[in-house]
Amino acid sequence: MLLMLPACRFSRASNTSPPPEEAVEEEVPAIPAGAKALLKAYPDFIVSYSDNQLIFCDGTSMVYDDGEQKDHLTRLDCSDPEDMFFHKYFTGPVHEPENCYDPGRFRCEALFKKMYGSSAEEVRTHLVDVQWFGQKIPFTSVNGAADSLRAVQADILADHPELKKYFSNSSSFCWRTVRGARRLSAHSYGMTIDIGTKFSNYWRWSYRGKEELDVLPSFQNRIPDEVVMAFERHGFIAGAKWYHFDSMHFEFRPELLYYEGE
Ligand SMILES: [Zn+2]
Repeated sequence: MLLMLPACRFSRASNTSPPPEEAVEEEVPAIPAGAKALLKAYPDFIVSYSDNQLIFCDGTSMVYDDGEQKDHLTRLDCSDPEDMFFHKYFTGPVHEPENCYDPGRFRCEALFKKMYGSSAEEVRTHLVDVQWFGQKIPFTSVNGAADSLRAVQADILADHPELKKYFSNSSSFCWRTVRGARRLSAHSYGMTIDIGTKFSNYWRWSYRGKEELDVLPSFQNRIPDEVVMAFERHGFIAGAKWYHFDSMHFEFRPELLYYEGE
């Protein structure tokens, strides 16, 4: 366990201190852009970064970068916190992504389990009901996710009430693995919502039989940019921006929106 103590830079005995002009500037190692974004996004959990470790407020720590070279499939299944930023997420209107460009599909399971719960029961203890376009949607209160979802609805109702039809039959929490994989779906953590399937495109539904590394015939999306951007304003990313498009899918991932790296 790493214990962070405040630096005592002003407590040297005066007779042993070098004169100020001879003081050597200590070089502070740069915090990686991804770690900075995580600190900003999850202040209730992550309190500092030191020596390649994310330090949590309960005193535990987690390796930020495991140093392993990963291909697309390994990154999907075994992401560390650093891998989550492998593809930069760009806010704004939806454009067709390049082959296998999936910003946000790489998730460090240990990190999300630590914050949202490591079992269905534990995640459930944090769920609250959100009134969502006439439905009651269970969503986690952790990290302010439920309040952020409410803010998305408020924006849509204020600015684009004509878009309400896109939200009917939404669904959120479901503890399950991703089809064909052992990793947990983002829906397991209670911070992800699928809006109405009527206007949605999902690569597995569109192209049955295609697998993760196959080239997809074409990109599909019918969700308006105004919906995508309302979610992004409140900390969510859109599955409509993935090469493996899942246009109904919105996931609370503020760290990707705070990321200022390349
Ligand atoms: Zn989804």
